[in-house]
Amino acid sequence: MDNTANILELKNVQKRYKGFALDGISLRLPQGYILGLIGPNGAGKTTTIKILMNMVKRESGEVQVVGLDPKKNAKQVKNKVGYLGEEQYFYGNKTVAWTGNFVSAFYDNWDTNIFQSLLTNFEISRTKKTRELSKGMKVRFSLALALSHHPDLLILDEPTAGLDPVIRREVLELLQKKSKNEGKSVIISSHITDDIMRIADLVAFLIEGKIVLTSEKDELLSSWKRIHYKKGALGSDIVNTLTRRKDHAFGSSGVTDRYLKIKDSLVQGITEGVIKVENVNLDDILISLVKGV
Ligand code: ATP
Repeated sequence: MDNTANILELKNVQKRYKGFALDGISLRLPQGYILGLIGPNGAGKTTTIKILMNMVKRESGEVQVVGLDPKKNAKQVKNKVGYLGEEQYFYGNKTVAWTGNFVSAFYDNWDTNIFQSLLTNFEISRTKKTRELSKGMKVRFSLALALSHHPDLLILDEPTAGLDPVIRREVLELLQKKSKNEGKSVIISSHITDDIMRIADLVAFLIEGKIVLTSEKDELLSSWKRIHYKKGALGSDIVNTLTRRKDHAFGSSGVTDRYLKIKDSLVQGITEGVIKVENVNLDDILISLVKGV
């Protein structure tokens, strides 16, 4: 992955609002991969994504999207990127078909066949007025619009919010197919960490305007574990490094981010049944990172 060209890169990007600062964000997405941007409400995910789309101007730092600086080449960037924003805006009294036709004029590479087949797959009626679409239908329609001009990179802000589980699964599978079969790259922001768990290759945690951790997802999940231990089964050197420690009637537990380094020292305890190791999910990691202890 290290040798792959980056389709997206941010270096030390800053943006300040009253009471909030995006504080020197650095991120990179190698071509063909899916990056999940995870963070609590107000962490700066949408601001970061809008900087990529030149909808918010960065104050300092460098940004490269599909090889271009979005500040200087906004139009070219839009042509090569499929973007889905937090909210969707349409002319409410125009139909789906009219809107598709209208949007198609902004792109050099619009593919009517892809657009039509996505409308069919997503079960969106071409004759419906956009104001008649439900929230979930609007998201599906926006995704169809975002995918119909052969974008190299998809930039998706909370794309599954408001979708029912069946369509949500379908959308995630579609994104995965785009990445694995067609070599497309995807950055997806979500606080539904389940979605990111399912499809992302890489994850970045954004907390209070700072990227606090980036990693390959599988590597992350191999190093972060919850350890359950009976009193005295773990040395204090390890216990002191655990976060989210809890005492139970029959022992204690805590989360480690260094499992691969300490696992050899746990083997005996595991064999004796006084130590048990459990997988964690991205929510557990996010909570550990947010709360610290
Ligand atoms: P959520 O998950 O709730 O959508 P987020 O991680 O996407 O949150 P942002 O929308 O980027 O967070 O907001 C980050 C911070 O920047 C918040 O404190 C927000 O109030 C502030 N902010 C965002 N846009 C503006 C703006 N145009 N003017 C002033 N403050 C803003």
